[in-house]
Amino acid sequence: MGRKLLLDKAHIEGIRYYDTYRSNGGYAAAEKALKTMGPEAVVEEVKKSGLRGRGGAGFPTGLKWSFIAKPEGVPRYLVCNADESEPGTFKDRYLMEFIPHLLIEGLLISSFALGANSAYIYIRGEYAWIPDILEQAIAEAKNKGWLGKNIQGTGFDLEIYVQRGAGAYICGEETALLESLEGKRGNPRIKPPFPAVKGLWGCPTVVNNVETIAAVVPIVNIGGDEYIKFGIGKSTGTKLISACGNINKPGVYEIEMNISVEEFIYSDEYCGGIKGGKRLKACIPGGSSVPVLPANLLLKTAKGETRMMTYESLNDGGFATGSMLGSGGFIVMDEDQCIVRNTLTFARFYHHESCGQCSPCREGTGWMKKVLHNIEYGKGKMSDIDLLWDIQRKIEGNTICPLGDAAAWPVAAAIRHFRDEFEWHVKHPDEALTRNFGLAHY
Ligand code: NAD
Ligand code: SF4
Repeated sequence: MGRKLLLDKAHIEGIRYYDTYRSNGGYAAAEKALKTMGPEAVVEEVKKSGLRGRGGAGFPTGLKWSFIAKPEGVPRYLVCNADESEPGTFKDRYLMEFIPHLLIEGLLISSFALGANSAYIYIRGEYAWIPDILEQAIAEAKNKGWLGKNIQGTGFDLEIYVQRGAGAYICGEETALLESLEGKRGNPRIKPPFPAVKGLWGCPTVVNNVETIAAVVPIVNIGGDEYIKFGIGKSTGTKLISACGNINKPGVYEIEMNISVEEFIYSDEYCGGIKGGKRLKACIPGGSSVPVLPANLLLKTAKGETRMMTYESLNDGGFATGSMLGSGGFIVMDEDQCIVRNTLTFARFYHHESCGQCSPCREGTGWMKKVLHNIEYGKGKMSDIDLLWDIQRKIEGNTICPLGDAAAWPVAAAIRHFRDEFEWHVKHPDEALTRNFGLAHY
């Protein structure tokens, strides 16, 4: 059995509530951080742990914290990005729903480390029932002296506010989130300046994902040196993976970052294999924004090495033969799935969610959607495949925020690895919608 650091107590009845959380070791890390460590020591421990941002980018958390500007008399903010909207990703929801005090405790320790006296949880609008759970946890923590003024007599003050989004995917992009939090339309800002220098209301702000903030609790509890033993290389600790698609056991799993992709898919501890005994065709390992991998490149890298559930291994070979761990949204496809149809589904999504600020994204996502629609619905030409390739190339790297890249990469990977399927659609316009695809990608 893999060891757990975040969900180890999630099964305990009543863990959602303060008394049970506290009697099972909750707030011990906060006590240690606030009473015996001090802010600098917490930052050092997080740096030592090698914790990388769990929202998708994998940026080193301790480094991000150390970038925060500290001008005299200017407030600093911590913003928790709970706008989990990446298709295939639902691990933060699980954490907030079942063990909300872990997030509150993580926010307390992280705010203390950063010198922030206000923290915000920006939560996606569709998670309609979760703000009440968070508000209750905040009220309980405040009641027990873990929030508010002079926390546990240490002189540190913190208020946590919950803000609901209104259903826009783009508000998960950190600067769009900050715009939205300020009451404006969620349009991404040009970076730099990064939020660590100029963030919420122009003040230094750290934006961290829910899981990242929660991970600070075990790091303080066990120490950075112990934390790194849960992974390999620069992929330290544990990672929450939301697994979905054609598998026997969809759900949220906490893995040590030292297991293989094969073990994750086929072992009974995790996905339990492909549903109905079918063959594995492909997988998007890190949420819809990352490249799809065919089965032969998913289990082994192009060099023939075992593909591991780590940042480095999943990206081995770059995007030519690799992908990304991203947000851990693990979407598994069996032999019956149509790559063209899947790519069209994602293209529709990105076109709908584009904020429209930059023309390569605004126009390109719509154009890709139309061309993919034609191919999928039997109206495509062979030249459309090259046209699609061309459009995605013109989007990538030419936009304000990563949504443009996120729209381009899935299309590029689909054509790169499954070009024969696109061609098949063009050659068989009448059958395109009625067949299954057990093609030669094994
Ligand atoms: P990024 O690489 O631009 O930034 C990562 C973080 O590091 C940001 O907080 C940024 O401010 C900070 N940073 C980077 N360089 C810095 C510097 N020089 N100084 C200070 N801070 C610096 O990526 P991103 O835009 O934050 O995230 C993109 C990723 O988000 C994608 O790869 C995708 O996997 C993921 N994503 C996740 C979801 C979800 O629901 N979890 C949704 C969409 C996308
Ligand atoms: Fe908006 Fe797309 Fe430009 Fe991002 S890339 S700022 S979503 S138009």
